[in-house]
Amino acid sequence: MANWFRDALETLFVIGVGGMLASVLRQARAGTLPVYRCRSCGRVTSRAYAQCRYCGSLVE
Ligand SMILES: [Zn+2]
Repeated sequence: MANWFRDALETLFVIGVGGMLASVLRQARAGTLPVYRCRSCGRVTSRAYAQCRYCGSLVE
């Protein structure tokens, strides 16, 4: 494989990952990331779990 081709692929990969991270950071700063706060302890947990990771209370 030609060197220029590999370099181009690496550049595209870096741009893609960087763009993804920038998008996530922008969403986090705008407060639009889909986070869920536990009602009992108020910490950010995930709805993927049935129970809060911190206090163990049920996540609705
Ligand atoms: Zn909790």
